[in-house]
Amino acid sequence: MTILRGVGGGPAVTSHFIDGGWTAPGGRTFPVRNPLDDGLVAEAAAGGREEAVAAVAAAAAAFPAWAAMAPGERQRLFLKAADIVDRRHEELVELMAIEGGASRAFSAFQIHLSSAMLRQAAGWGYLPAGDVLRSDIPGRIAMVTRKPLGVVAGFTPWNGAFYLAWRTFLLPMAFGNTTVIKPSELAPISAGLIHAEILEEAGFPAGTFNVVTHAPGEAAAIAEEFFESPAVRCINFTGSDRTARILGERAGRALKRMVLELGGFNPVLVLDDADVEEAVKAVTFGAFLHQGQVCMNSRKVYVARSLHDEFVDGLAERVQALKIGDPTDPEVIIGPLIDDRAVEQIDARVRDALDRGATLVTGGTADGRLYAPTILTHVPPDAICTTGADETFGPLLVVEPFDDAEAALRAAQDTRYGLSASIMTGDRARGLEMSQRFDTGIVHVNAPTMASEAALPVGGVKDSGWGRSGHYAIEDFTELRMTTVSGEPGRYPF
Ligand code: NAD
Repeated sequence: MTILRGVGGGPAVTSHFIDGGWTAPGGRTFPVRNPLDDGLVAEAAAGGREEAVAAVAAAAAAFPAWAAMAPGERQRLFLKAADIVDRRHEELVELMAIEGGASRAFSAFQIHLSSAMLRQAAGWGYLPAGDVLRSDIPGRIAMVTRKPLGVVAGFTPWNGAFYLAWRTFLLPMAFGNTTVIKPSELAPISAGLIHAEILEEAGFPAGTFNVVTHAPGEAAAIAEEFFESPAVRCINFTGSDRTARILGERAGRALKRMVLELGGFNPVLVLDDADVEEAVKAVTFGAFLHQGQVCMNSRKVYVARSLHDEFVDGLAERVQALKIGDPTDPEVIIGPLIDDRAVEQIDARVRDALDRGATLVTGGTADGRLYAPTILTHVPPDAICTTGADETFGPLLVVEPFDDAEAALRAAQDTRYGLSASIMTGDRARGLEMSQRFDTGIVHVNAPTMASEAALPVGGVKDSGWGRSGHYAIEDFTELRMTTVSGEPGRYPF
């Protein structure tokens, strides 16, 4: 991992990536720490407004040539980047473990999705560029053409950082925009800097992709430049709805377009005709991948009463077998939570439910930041973890029996979020019919709530945000220009 190799073998000092170059080391830095043991991973550059100004200027200067580049030329670059991602698989697994606490299983999932998305995006330059329209005026030709916006500025989160950073800048770039990324301060390498290294090697033109990192608590100065610069035409944000509200208010004042990929509550319905073993497997993966720190993790399962006890027993057995520990151990599935605040949040919510009379099936204990995957049943409706009012971003799952599938479908949607949902059933037609009544951006029948594929659009409704990934992102990252060409003398009223 070149970016992690410091002088004399110590932790690296990373810099910003602006206009195709790594800014000279020096100036303020901040420590990037391993969430498992606070070990120093790197010293990262602490940037601010000045670096953001330079990065936006570089992206703006690179925009005309990138927007005009032939689709085949851009395709060649994306395919090359995909090959580099695959080649660096093992280093990336190590990076995501030490910087983000990701298990090998989760890192491999992200790497696979990333190179697959790069290969998908490689073809998007050939998508239809618009429509020819009918005109009522004789001799007039009318058309709409899609054109890129300009500079798209991206905020990337620390969780699932490697894949989500690609999603933040690759989609705009595939449609001809240039980008500036502000990665999460908790994982600046996996959330942006490593991508710069990959794109640099692939030969992307200088300025098309820029990264500015910052110390904790210092995001606002960079964000301010994104909102104030006329060159920035869109903000692509992936993160919490709490931050999205702050940025959204600011975007409103600047009249700036925003794409928002936010959190979720992600219910699962296990219907009375479901294969219990399959449901147990899907829910274990859906709830506990990355120790519950993914926007699409399942938070609550509604199970037909006739299957409830068998399901809970099977789930407890499978979950208790998940190895907890240092994610650099390839056997480990449950690594550390990102920081102490995350541990405090989940623990407080588990205690709150237990104090109100919930039953602890398994988990509920912490060893440092390693929180045991936790299942609760008999959770009173006013416990925070079951209300759907706020996502619990950790390994906590609530299981509840139901007698009436229609009532369960309604209850599962009593949340302000609308990202993903899933239905487990032996009757695919029944599952399909019920799925269409879920008010979510994503719904899976007989798969976990987080059964993502690079080509399939991810995105939410309600407080989970707006915008879609996959080639549907053309709607978010291009605008339409209407053009008419008239050949005959005009007729005017005066
Ligand atoms: P976050 O909202 O704390 O941070 C996201 C980004 O915003 C980071 O780059 C952060 O530095 C920046 N930021 C935070 N406060 C800011 C401020 N005041 N001004 C400017 N920038 C600021 O989210 P997080 O903790 O990094 O990520 C976890 C959240 O993201 C969860 O809610 C999760 O569900 C959500 N998420 C959603 C998706 C999706 O695709 N829908 C994907 C991943 C994560």
